[in-house]
Parts: sequence; C-alpha cells; structure tokens
Amino acid sequence: MKKTVDLCVIGGAGAGLCAAVHARELGVRAVLVIDKQPKMGGCTRMAQGVFSCDSPVQKRTGAKMLSADECFTYHMDMTNCEPDGKLVRKWLTTTGKVIGWLEDYAGVEFIEAAPWSTGLPAYHMCAKPTGNEIVNHLIAKAQETGVELVNNVRAKHLITDDAGAVTGVLAEDKDGEEWEITAQRVIIATGSISANQELIQRFYAQDGDMGNVRIMANVPHNTGDGLIMAEELGADTTPIGNLYIGPHNHPSNPRTALLLRRPHTIKVNRNGERFVDEDMIITRWWGWTLAVSLNRQPDKMCYGIMDTSLLRYWLENKKNYYPLEMIHGTGHTNIKDDYGKDDAKSLDRVNPTKWLDHIEEDIEKEIAAGRIIKCGSYAEMAQAIGCTEEAIRTTIEDYNRYCEQGYDEEFLKEKEYLFPLTEFPMYVMVGHQGIDTPIGGLRVDHNQKVIKKDSRPIPNLYAAGIVSGGWMGRNYGFFGSEMSYVTYSGYAAGENAAKAILG
Ligand SMILES: Cc1cc2nc3c(=O)[nH]c(=O)nc-3n(C[C@H](O)[C@H](O)[C@H](O)COP(=O)(O)OP(=O)(O)OC[C@H]3O[C@@H](n4cnc5c(N)ncnc54)[C@H](O)[C@@H]3O)c2cc1C
Repeated sequence: MKKTVDLCVIGGAGAGLCAAVHARELGVRAVLVIDKQPKMGGCTRMAQGVFSCDSPVQKRTGAKMLSADECFTYHMDMTNCEPDGKLVRKWLTTTGKVIGWLEDYAGVEFIEAAPWSTGLPAYHMCAKPTGNEIVNHLIAKAQETGVELVNNVRAKHLITDDAGAVTGVLAEDKDGEEWEITAQRVIIATGSISANQELIQRFYAQDGDMGNVRIMANVPHNTGDGLIMAEELGADTTPIGNLYIGPHNHPSNPRTALLLRRPHTIKVNRNGERFVDEDMIITRWWGWTLAVSLNRQPDKMCYGIMDTSLLRYWLENKKNYYPLEMIHGTGHTNIKDDYGKDDAKSLDRVNPTKWLDHIEEDIEKEIAAGRIIKCGSYAEMAQAIGCTEEAIRTTIEDYNRYCEQGYDEEFLKEKEYLFPLTEFPMYVMVGHQGIDTPIGGLRVDHNQKVIKKDSRPIPNLYAAGIVSGGWMGRNYGFFGSEMSYVTYSGYAAGENAAKAILG
C-alpha cells in the first residue's frame, strides 16, 4: 500500500492526537495518524491528571497558583537545571493555553485543578477519568475535522532522501502488508520505553541492578519504537527522567501500600537502618524524593514498620494523611488492582477514609501472601528484614527516644508523626522501588525537532510526548508534568510542522 499525505503522525495517543488535531486546525490538508494498537489512546487513557499553570481552569475556580514564571524557576531548580531551559520555558508558558485549547476546541471539560501531592492547585482533572476523556474528545475532533486515523499499522522505519531528510514512514499492518507513506513532515509520538527491557537496561545502566524495581506504568505497547527508528538516522538521546514512586508493595494492594507510605511508618533498609525523613511524602512539595532516597538502598528495597498501637491509632483516628490517599478514597481515578479489576474498596467519594474499614482484612491477606510479616520479637523482625537483631533493635530504640524527646536527631521528621513503636506484634511491610513512566530518551530542540548528535535537526522530523526528553531532569518535577508536557509538546509539534508545511 502506498499513501501520500502532508503530515504523518506515528502514535495516536495524548501527544500524537494533539499534534494531528492542531495541525489540521491550522490548515494542513492531509493529516494521517497511524497507531499499532487496535484502539487509539495508548497509556494516555490511564492518566489521572494534567499539571498546568496560568490555565483558564485555575482562573475561573480562583485557584491560587504559582505563575508560569515561578513554575519555570522551580522546575529548573528542582531538576538541577539538567533540562533544556528553552524547551521548559516554552512548555510552562504554553501549558495553560493548551488546557484552554483542549476545553474550547476539543471540548474537554476540566472540573478542577486539584492540589494533588504538591498542595498546589495544579492537577487538572475531569469528572470522568481524565486521560480517557482527553483521548475521546481528541478522537472526536479528529474525525469531525477530517484527520485520518488508522489503527493496527505499526511504523517500522523512517524513509529519508539522499540528503538525509525524512520523506516518509515505512509501516506494516496487522495482516503483514507493507505501507509506504510519503509525507512532508513526520511526528514521532510513540510513547515510552517502559516495555523494552533492552532499552531499560541501556538507559538505566548507571542505576545498577533494576531487578527489584517495578516499572509501574509498564504498558506493553511502549516498546520505544520511535526512539529506535530515530536512532537509526543518528538521532541524539537524553538521560531518562523518572518519577520514582516507591515504596510500594507488589503485587499491589493499594490500601496496604498506603499504610507503608504513611508518614508515621518508619522505613528501614536491608541493614535494618532508617535512611530518610519518612514524612517527606507530605511535608515536601516533591514528596517522591522519599523514593529517590530508596533508590540508593541495598537492592532498592525497604521495610515499613508499624506496631499494634500505631495500627490501632489509625483505626481510631480515621484520617487521610496525604493527597494520594484522598485520590484513592474519593474515586477520582479508575484505580485497578494488579489483576486489572476495579478496586471498589478504595473508591468512595463520600467517605474518603472508608478504605480503612477493610484494612485489617487486607493486612491478613498480605500476611498470607508473605508481603507483610507479623513479628512477635526483634529476632523475628530481623529475620523478616535480613538484618541482625541488634541492628533493628537499635534502630527502634533510637527512634523511640526521638519520639519521647520530640526531636528526630537523624532525619528531623516532624514531631507530629513521631509515633513510638513499642507494642508487639509489629508488622514488617515489604517495600519495593517503583518507577512510573521512564520519561524521554529522544533529544528534541525547543521546536520539537529531533536533534542529531551534532546538535543539528534531522530535516522534517519532529517528536512529541513521552518519547522525547530534555524537559525533565533525572527526577520528577510538578505532579502531572507528563500529561502537561505530552499535550503541550503534541500541540507545539503540530504547530511547528504545520508552519513548515504551509510555508
Ligand atoms: C496507569 C497510568 C497512570 C498515569 N497517570 C498519569 C497522571 O495522572 N498524570 C500524568 O501526567 N501522567 C500519568 N501517566 C503517564 C502518562 O499517561 C504518559 O506519560 C502519557 O500518556 C504518554 O503519552 P504519549 O502520547 O507520549 O504516549 P502513549 O500514551 O504511550 O501513546 C503512544 C502511542 O503510540 C503508539 N505506538 C507506539 N509505537 C508505535 C509504532 N511503531 N507505530 C505506530 N504506533 C505506535 C502506541 O500504540 C500508543 O497508542 C500515567 C501512566 C499510566 C500507565
């Protein structure tokens, strides 16, 4: 099959659909989106919220939010100025406009900018699961405006002319038929490398053994195809950005995972030693820095410890401690457990602590599965953790002394969360490191053009969405940054490609 279009977008999810719909809006006539999956939307359908600043949602709800300028400074500081400042600046000064475009042009309805995780009213959510809403509206707009959407067609290689300029895409459909697509411009929007073990090993080489690290947003179609295709043409790469989201239990029971993460629960490593200020998850804007600390522990594992009196305290004083608990509790998300079932026990809009009603039953199940170990003595705790009895005893005795004096000598945990561990049985909860989505890999400039190792663009080639890097450092920034950058970069790539096509 041979096909000629003005613009070919590879990957029909958040980034690809924004690019295609916006390019068509600007006047590009023949816009084609190919996606290798039977359904458009990729992992974007699962996203819960979109970070943004200076957005119309924040304006109409009166949300007191940092300005785009302030967000720029925070993002660059938080990421140690690793990202491309020009790219970040364009993203953060345009994301608010893109939210408005999603609402006004595509018909997405955001009901709030929730103060999720950072406490900043920045996490834009729809009444129904947000990523799914965005995808559905973009598909409808694409169909209404004549963007051609084709599923079950997988791009394999980019086609170039003798000068190295991209002139199209070589693809294959599900019946094995080859598609030769000629296009003036091509946008790669194929998502992350999360399901490609070879790329994971290569990009995470400096992080050591990843055996115990679970890639949480591991979606089978995210095999890094766009990155591989562009590298065939000499494209440069970036380090991978990470949203570390440990500690979590695995396979996951979202409710016992919340206990593990609670600020009172001390976390010890395999040597039986605390390694972090455990209330970081709520006392810092960037709560996931707790997980960054976990990254440098032996085997990237930890053990959360609660005693009987702490569990009793939580059951008697039903309270949400951090925004993730609220999200789990309020049904804002289509949380599914590891087996893909809707986790109805986590969802209750009216009573956001209802999940605690089931927690003892959950704990018993986790004990039976060996992910929580109920211990009657320090010796049993040592055995569960794999450390010496003396090590765990010393850690807990020291910690109890900090609780008594109201001052955590080691990590300065807030007094409010210093709860002594004195009553056996104690519960040792196994905690793994997790990464949400590996972010980036393919280097782009501030116009979303794919860049070669000599810093020059590959002519006619753009990249958008999570396949492209250089806008996030090695660690995360504002919560919901991925969907923010995904929608922005799709919009920008579509606009830049359209300008080039229309002249
Ligand atoms: C469970 C879950 C929850 C999340 N929650 C959030 C959140 O709340 N906020 C947030 O900011 N981020 C969140 N993320 C991350 C966010 O969803 C992703 O980073 C984002 O959706 C990536 O968008 P994308 O368009 O770049 O790629 P994707 O959505 O992964 O789409 C890539 C598309 O490209 C197609 N494709 C791939 N290779 C080819 C090929 N060779 N040929 C043709 N098509 C191809 C795929 O089929 C897919 O449709 C979450 C992720 C998951 C999995």
